[in-house]
Amino acid sequence: AKAQMFDKDSTVKTTFKDVAGLEEAKVEIMEVVEFLRNPQKYKDLGGKIPKGVLLVGPPGTGKTLLAKAVAGEANVPFFSISGSDFVEMFVGVGASRVRDLFRQAKEKAPCIVFIDEIDAIGRARSRNVGFSSNDERENTLNQLLTEMDGFGTNSGVIVLAATNRADILDKALMRAGRFDRQIEVGLPELNERREIFDVHLRGLKLAPDLDRDFLAKQTPGFSGADIANVCNEAALIAARKSKNFIDKQDFLDAIDRIVGGLERKSVIIT
Ligand code: ATP
Repeated sequence: AKAQMFDKDSTVKTTFKDVAGLEEAKVEIMEVVEFLRNPQKYKDLGGKIPKGVLLVGPPGTGKTLLAKAVAGEANVPFFSISGSDFVEMFVGVGASRVRDLFRQAKEKAPCIVFIDEIDAIGRARSRNVGFSSNDERENTLNQLLTEMDGFGTNSGVIVLAATNRADILDKALMRAGRFDRQIEVGLPELNERREIFDVHLRGLKLAPDLDRDFLAKQTPGFSGADIANVCNEAALIAARKSKNFIDKQDFLDAIDRIVGGLERKSVIIT
């Protein structure tokens, strides 16, 4: 999802309860939460906590949600930027934004810095220098690498970054002391879709015969974001028909609409 530039939100309400499924990812990232809750414990033992963790998976699978939940669980500030914000920036602006972001983060540590769509700045650097826009992207990437090397593991800043293209990232990003950990955030299986429906059906007025098993079975290949859309769309369809409840047909119509949207997207891509 689109994160605002410096979307500093020190009162993150999101917790693991809001993130359905993704059990393995939650277990893995729990270590980061534990560290942020009690950095001293790790310092005393001389333990090394990762500075950077890469969340890898298709769009809409809950990477941003999970990163926010880490901040919410640990009750620490959440700073975020999106790699796409850096595209088409004036010379020097990207690098100075990165510098400012880390300066603020270090002041507010322990905290989370979240970089969405890191591939937009972190694509492998080209050997043949040519376009100035490319140079600017590389400046931004270099600044990010400098920042990550510049703070110690004990500074209490943990950088989480999301991408759906780990394969195109500059290998320098994955070096020890940078994003040396990866957590897979995949598309939900049937039982996970059931849980995601649970989260997004909360607060909706549903027809009595409607069940989440039926909905989960109707939505193979859907991401969490697609499921959230289905629930919202179904409510809109029911409202348009002035119904008192959202029923099966409203959901089927909503699913059709989302499938249509997904197909159109894939036509454009190919
Ligand atoms: P992108 O790569 O497009 O930025 P993302 O992986 O960061 O996507 P999110 O922005 O976290 O995805 O998800 C978008 C919305 O979809 C969330 O705000 C939430 O409403 C819903 N969603 C996604 N995954 C889940 C999940 N596992 N549990 C509950 N809701 C989810």
